[in-house]
Amino acid sequence: MNLIILGLPGAGKGTESDFIVKKYGLIHLSTGDIFRSNIKNGNALGIKAKEYMDAGQYVPDEITNKLVAARLQQLDIKTTDFILDGYPRTIDQAFYLDKTLLTINKPILVLYLAINEQTVVDRLSSRRVCLQCGRVYNLKFSPPKINNKCDIDNQTLIQRSDDKAATIKTRLQVYKKETLPLVTYYQNQGLLKTIDANLENDKVRATIEQYLLENDNG
Ligand code: AMP
Repeated sequence: MNLIILGLPGAGKGTESDFIVKKYGLIHLSTGDIFRSNIKNGNALGIKAKEYMDAGQYVPDEITNKLVAARLQQLDIKTTDFILDGYPRTIDQAFYLDKTLLTINKPILVLYLAINEQTVVDRLSSRRVCLQCGRVYNLKFSPPKINNKCDIDNQTLIQRSDDKAATIKTRLQVYKKETLPLVTYYQNQGLLKTIDANLENDKVRATIEQYLLENDNG
């Protein structure tokens, strides 16, 4: 069971991936996390990626594709299945991924978290993260116990620079133009399962679990 999780920024891809990874023991491959860790390290890839991310734009396909393909060739992928979170995001990335998956002989299923745009705008603008442990909070829906401090390590929470209002707007526009066509792409191949991500979290999870169970059995 190798998965792609697809949806608007703020639809819950990271949160649901964490849940799936814990429950089913998959490897979590998040391109956003990979870029952020490179930014934290201050290396050349991080510096390049930051330019695009801060502007709400996508990192160019040739950089992103190579990064993911190299990761998918690593030894652990042979024995353990994975969930791709935030990749592919363009049709060219999807084509490239199809080719890579053929070489490693891994079939995929796609979970599509469908959600209203206004809901993600609300979620993204109140999202805060701990840079130390990666935990994600929402000031409205899942605030930390102490104001602006991480429950786990007491670090000050930050707002991702791409979660600022102006950048959110660009990200949504880019998503609609570049990523939304992937819904049809995977739907046409019969690989897409649409999940109503406007619902409460336990309902979203129940739908995901049901779907994964059906696919495991069959
Ligand atoms: P995320 O954490 O998935 O929301 O990703 C944060 C940002 O990283 C995105 O807004 C893009 O700038 C960049 N990024 C992540 N994944 C990709 C991708 N597959 N293609 C291009 N850019 C990406």
